[in-house]
Amino acid sequence: MNDTFIIQIDEEVCTGCGRCAEVCPVNAIEGAQGTPHVVNEAKCVLCGQCVQTCSAFASVFEARPTSDARKKQQRNLFAENAEPLFAAWHTGDAPEVAAKLAQGVFSMVQCAPAVRVAIGEEFGMDAGALTPGKLAAALRRAGFSRVYDTNFAADLTIMEEGSELLKRIAEGGTLPMFTSCCPAWVRYAELNYPDLLGHLSSCKSPQQMAGAVFKSYGAQLDGRNPEDVYSVAVMPCTCKKYEADRPEMQNDGVRNVDAVLTTRELAAIIRHCGIDFASLPEEEFDTPLGTYSGAGNIFGLTGGVMEAALRTAYELVTGKAVPQTELAYVRGGEGLRKAELTMNGRTYRVAVVAGLQYVAPLFEDIRKGINEFDFIEVMCCPQGCISGGGQPKVLLPYQRQSVYEARKASLYHHDSALQCRKSHENKQVRKLYTEYLGEPLGHLSHTLLHTRYGTKH
Ligand code: SF4
Ligand code: SF4
Repeated sequence: MNDTFIIQIDEEVCTGCGRCAEVCPVNAIEGAQGTPHVVNEAKCVLCGQCVQTCSAFASVFEARPTSDARKKQQRNLFAENAEPLFAAWHTGDAPEVAAKLAQGVFSMVQCAPAVRVAIGEEFGMDAGALTPGKLAAALRRAGFSRVYDTNFAADLTIMEEGSELLKRIAEGGTLPMFTSCCPAWVRYAELNYPDLLGHLSSCKSPQQMAGAVFKSYGAQLDGRNPEDVYSVAVMPCTCKKYEADRPEMQNDGVRNVDAVLTTRELAAIIRHCGIDFASLPEEEFDTPLGTYSGAGNIFGLTGGVMEAALRTAYELVTGKAVPQTELAYVRGGEGLRKAELTMNGRTYRVAVVAGLQYVAPLFEDIRKGINEFDFIEVMCCPQGCISGGGQPKVLLPYQRQSVYEARKASLYHHDSALQCRKSHENKQVRKLYTEYLGEPLGHLSHTLLHTRYGTKH
């Protein structure tokens, strides 16, 4: 197996139990029961559900050809890592990021919404504990120069993606339009439906939009050159490492995001720095690129992008306040949900998909010329990013659902407690357009925030 591939299964540790194969959404795990399994790289979408689920680990009572110290090096873990070495694992970036911070590089960090409702679990807090303030404090103490937030870029995504959808509808463009926030979903579409990629929104994901804004507007605010900003993203997701490495995800030869840490890797850095997470005070993310609405915050859930988009689209299309901010009809769990919303006499048909196994029938229908929808949100992981492959592991299968429900409730609670709950009302996003970008889908927005999908890497 290619040892630079992000997802690996350690044949010395794998018991061949098959749990990973059960959760793989694309049947990319191969091997007979009781024998070491392998990842089929041509099919794998790097979602990390196998890493999340794997419960076979290297027992200290059994000798293996490769020592634990060597395994930690291979996996790029800190030498002091005391956690079990599971059979399924992802390549790591924590020691490099910690070393850069120790050198005092000028850095900007962003955190995905799902991280703030899960990282507390790594430090003994309740499942789903909501910790945005402690997260900001921990990042500051770990040495990041600017503590910004992916949620800001989620609001920005709504401005761009919503405008793109309305333009396609007005101009007879390709419909349905699919979201492009989830890189595992994008990779799945590229591998399996290359003829239908015109249906994907051209928007970069919030991670990449944030990175692009850090190295342009953010660098300018700090009087820095783009190449002098070290841009780090903390994600619930293993596939975001792949996304950041894609050659399209750069501007003028400068990568948008230099390094991606999973939630578990950030926890390892916090421990490495000797920070007592649970005792930290509540602090704020930095302005302007750390300011967010409740709509940006629910991107971490299946249905969240759709709900955020509809809150904004309703107000932009009708000029009236959305009658209800919380749109229960797009909320839910794994599977496919459908909804309709009428605005100014036109009915908009939307769908939300959580789990790649549910999207193939939609694409097959489109190939046959059948389409019931205008806009479709797709997330690979069963409950969206709160259940991502880089989140704290939930080892006992019977606890998984309740942990996911707790994380979900926490994100919705956070949304309902925020004063600003609609992306177009985020004052700092508006200021970004006024001072720098111009308008959604304008020339600079197009250059920084959009891309073309379609290359298999
Ligand atoms: S990373 Fe996801 S797609 Fe790849 S083998 Fe694991 S579960 Fe399957
Ligand atoms: S649903 Fe979220 S965590 Fe899962 S693969 Fe997609 S972006 Fe990553």
